[in-house]
Amino acid sequence: MRERLVIGNWKMHGSLASNLGLLHAVRGTDGKGCSVGVCVPYVYVPQARSVLGGSVVRWGAQDVASFAIGAYTGEVSADMLADFSCTYVLVGHSERRTLFGESDVDVAGKVSRALAAGLCPVICVGESLAERDAGVTEAVVLRQLNAVIKACGVNALAKSVVAYEPVWAIGTGRAASPAQAQEVHALIRQYVSRMDAAIAERLQILYGGSVKPETAASLFACPDIDGGLIGGASLQASDFLAICAA
Ligand code: PEP
Repeated sequence: MRERLVIGNWKMHGSLASNLGLLHAVRGTDGKGCSVGVCVPYVYVPQARSVLGGSVVRWGAQDVASFAIGAYTGEVSADMLADFSCTYVLVGHSERRTLFGESDVDVAGKVSRALAAGLCPVICVGESLAERDAGVTEAVVLRQLNAVIKACGVNALAKSVVAYEPVWAIGTGRAASPAQAQEVHALIRQYVSRMDAAIAERLQILYGGSVKPETAASLFACPDIDGGLIGGASLQASDFLAICAA
């Protein structure tokens, strides 16, 4: 039985003052039946560590450099995140891919750095609406996943989480139906299973894209959906905790 996992992606939201209430509320979760994490903006990682330290809730960042160290102005390395006891780091979120031009190769480099620093990369994959309409969802998702497997090996997935996030569902209020999500989650698991059945069986595959307290339970009831990556709804403690409870 795979452990359930819900991770909040705060995106570029928050302030020292407003984060406090949210972090303290999330800290209160007992973590029974579901592991919980929050991926916050870099500058709030120390605050997340200070409030969440000693609780069952883990914290992390939303991106990481694909380089280890050096003259990369503005970048934050995986070792730096590890210095602040991060557990998770989002890698290849669709906003990074589309707005900041991250390629599959960049994403694979980030996964490699994250793993080398002992972090758990949350590898985000997902198709755009145009790609879904063109019938290439499977090809896109497997291409994104394969770039990581090719660069880091299938064993990298033993220490990673995969998040299936259809781009058309992110921040739109239009979540994938449980059937649509389950179909892609099963595809990912079967694909990995052909390389390593044990890794596939243990791999946590999260669904992300407009998950709300009302839609969470039906999505999480699907056999290959092991939890969620939650954007907008992770900014409201009551919504986020209701999703964790689901
Ligand atoms: C996300 O940004 O990863 C996400 C899933 O956002 P939302 O829940 O707001 O669609």
